[in-house]
Amino acid sequence: MSTAPLGIVSALPDELSALLALVESPTASTVAGRRLHRGCLHGHEVVLTLCGIGKVAAALTTTLLIEREGVRGLLFTGVAGGLGSEVRVGDVVVARTLLQHDMDASPLFPRHQIPDLGVDELPADEALSTALLAAAREVVQNPPAAVVGFGLTGPAVHQGLVISGDRFVSTSAESVALASRLPSALAVEMEGAAMAQVCAAFAVPCAVLRTISDRADDQAHVDFPRFLAEVASPLSREIVSLALKRL
Ligand code: SAH
Repeated sequence: MSTAPLGIVSALPDELSALLALVESPTASTVAGRRLHRGCLHGHEVVLTLCGIGKVAAALTTTLLIEREGVRGLLFTGVAGGLGSEVRVGDVVVARTLLQHDMDASPLFPRHQIPDLGVDELPADEALSTALLAAAREVVQNPPAAVVGFGLTGPAVHQGLVISGDRFVSTSAESVALASRLPSALAVEMEGAAMAQVCAAFAVPCAVLRTISDRADDQAHVDFPRFLAEVASPLSREIVSLALKRL
């Protein structure tokens, strides 16, 4: 077992709470307003923390985890809005690549391109993503009781482009515009691509797992807190746990 911990990050408390409860021998410290929980999870040294919402919060937290905690890799687990027509509430998306949909330095650079890097999409780590994907496929076959209780049966697992920006996308007009500008995007959230950019700079592997909480449309706010507590939290616990057991 490596002594360098694996970082596990979420934006919202209920995205991490069920997983946090499983950490053995936890010790906590606070840096820059982030509570870092170190401990052991399924045989791995881990450090779990909430980053808060948005790209700056995610970038700051990722940098802290890499520079201060020396993490050997990062997993983001949380919720997202579904964009692809086949991506439904309750489904799980594992990022293959990530893009900042609000990055726009045109006309100096093409829209979405990260000027420093000359690319628009950044890849997630293949080994970590494959472990999450396999675990997600297995967990959705036999989902936690609360997920079934929420009326979600037969959730699907997808892998592909996840897009991030500093906006909660909650109108049909905006989600339709995003989907037509970025037709391969499966899901929209607010942190993943920022984490990926910082991880790329430090050459630290990262992966992003998202449960679809809404369709990024006019209904996006409906039952959001209940979904987080009853669906996203247990699904995240089950999927990340299974992936860790096999890593
Ligand atoms: N309405 C929510 C706002 C939370 S912000 C509330 O009242 O608490 C949404 C968080 O979930 C972000 O961390 C983001 O990554 C993710 N997310 C889920 N659905 C999203 C969407 N439709 N657009 C953008 N981010 C979304």
